[in-house]
Amino acid sequence: MYKLAIAGTGYVGLVAGATFAEVGHHVTCVDVDEDKVEMMRAGISPIYEEGLESLMQRNVELGRLSYSTDFKAAYQDADAIFIGVGTPERADGSADLTHIASVARQIAESIEKDCLVIVKSTVPVGTNDKVEQFIRDFLVNDVHFEVASNPEFLAQGSAVHDTMYADRFIIGTESEWARNLLTDIYTSFHRPIVNVSRRSAEMIKYASNDFLALKISYINDIANLCELVGADIQDVAEGMSYDARIGDKFLNAGIGYGGSCFPKDTKALMSLARENGYELRTVQSAVEVNEQQKTKLFKEANKRLITFNGLKVAVLGLTFKPGTDDLREAASLVNVPLLLEQGADIYAFDPSGAVRFSTMYPEGRFGIGAITYASNVEQALLDAHVCFIFTEWDEVKLTTPERYAELMRTPLVYDGRNIYSVLEMEKAGVEYHSVGRFSTK
Ligand code: NAD
Repeated sequence: MYKLAIAGTGYVGLVAGATFAEVGHHVTCVDVDEDKVEMMRAGISPIYEEGLESLMQRNVELGRLSYSTDFKAAYQDADAIFIGVGTPERADGSADLTHIASVARQIAESIEKDCLVIVKSTVPVGTNDKVEQFIRDFLVNDVHFEVASNPEFLAQGSAVHDTMYADRFIIGTESEWARNLLTDIYTSFHRPIVNVSRRSAEMIKYASNDFLALKISYINDIANLCELVGADIQDVAEGMSYDARIGDKFLNAGIGYGGSCFPKDTKALMSLARENGYELRTVQSAVEVNEQQKTKLFKEANKRLITFNGLKVAVLGLTFKPGTDDLREAASLVNVPLLLEQGADIYAFDPSGAVRFSTMYPEGRFGIGAITYASNVEQALLDAHVCFIFTEWDEVKLTTPERYAELMRTPLVYDGRNIYSVLEMEKAGVEYHSVGRFSTK
């Protein structure tokens, strides 16, 4: 078993740290955020992921997992250091590598024994070469180090499961020493390992994410056309899904993708292509379709209602998907300001995202609009004139069509996640609008 250090305790770093400890490695998770480290030391996970907190607590008790802000102590005698810091989007769409560079510098100044540095963050092709050069430029001690690429494929909401039962681990290396060491670290997971070059590994990550974004935008594009020609996207997707070449994943039409990965990774790959004199037209189209899709239902409702001024609007779901508290690029962040601008009196419900959302939109008035946080679906729906569903949380899915009819003043529902059967909503007396299916009006 190895002594590992992880730089960054976000969704990627913390899940990697806890799962590496679970399979027996000795792990120190490092973060520059003192509050986060304090929280973790108190046994609390700073992010919501099913099973993560108990994994953290168990491995701390077993003495295999610890948290620190002291990067020097964590890196100096580590066998391997994983970099899992953020690579956010710059204004021009390219990836911002500032955090990667600062960790690389900290590593260069800290390591006192031979070690492998592994970039887990999503980075443009060629970044691993630059990280290696950067560390070499600032290296203080005479030790052997190499850099390997090991992109992460977990999905938020199922991150622990996705790591423990990963479809595959991608290992991008330039030497046998690096390949053997990284393979050995992952052996205890007993999952398939794919060995490639560093540049191929970096590209696999973007190519995979952008393919999934394309798939979502494609089905949304077809859904929009279904509405115009009288076909039903759910029937269409089901029919398509039996074809093994297409598969049954990522065929749910809705109001587009969000989150910290697809939006930025599509733009970063386009930016990389542009830098190399190439235009990625397929990905460009996926981005454009997604932008329009996010406000599709708002625009539809706006035509139907003229204005939201003075209307009580139930908003069900704020996070970009269920099972996470992450709001990055969520549909709610585009639609809530549009609703407030028109004077909507919003009652928002989200089982895990409301606290974060309220740091941006505290309860109270915003111009002519206002926002209140409901503690359950019923409270949000009570006396509402219109309801928007942005996230398919179980709490929303378990709310029957009849409850909308009973609780709302005017049962008018815009469902961005196609949760309900159109017929059942209609039978319950709800005016129901969804994506790519027949609406009652
Ligand atoms: P995050 O923003 O949730 O967490 C990053 C953490 O790094 C923060 O806690 C920050 O304080 C810390 N940090 C910054 N500088 C540091 C330093 N010098 N030393 C130690 N810690 C430092 O990020 P995330 O969502 O976990 O994503 C990390 C990377 O993984 C990104 O490149 C992302 O694209 C990629 N990725 C994310 C996901 C996902 O679902 N979130 C999935 C696959 C890949």
